[in-house]
Amino acid sequence: MKQNKPSEKTSKESSTRLVYSSDGSHLKLCKKCGEDPCICIDSPSNAVTIDPAKTILKIKLEKNQRGGKLVTVIHDFPFNPDYFEDLTKKLKNHCGTGGTYKKEVKPQIELQGDQREKAEALLLKLGFKTKRSGG
Ligand SMILES: [Zn+2]
Repeated sequence: MKQNKPSEKTSKESSTRLVYSSDGSHLKLCKKCGEDPCICIDSPSNAVTIDPAKTILKIKLEKNQRGGKLVTVIHDFPFNPDYFEDLTKKLKNHCGTGGTYKKEVKPQIELQGDQREKAEALLLKLGFKTKRSGG
């Protein structure tokens, strides 16, 4: 009951189709910016790898608007929320103070009080370069 039509062709076709269907990444336009690849500044997939040696962190001292308490602000760093959230924890532990990682368009780390010396010491230890900015 053997026929001449080769059965190989159909199996080859189905395996090819499988490869195509599993790779749809080239058609994922971002819903926010409509670009491919996405150019949104706050998209986790756009997080950059942090190389401390090439990163200059700016540190400034600000006065809280309410009550005029001093706040140390570390800002102007590359976009990588996970990395800097973790760094915020380290800074808080090192300085023994409270602090927040502010996830905004221009993310920044705020530490309560004048922590410039301590924060700089830790950042330098981690390999970062630091620069004081503002007042
Ligand atoms: Zn986008």
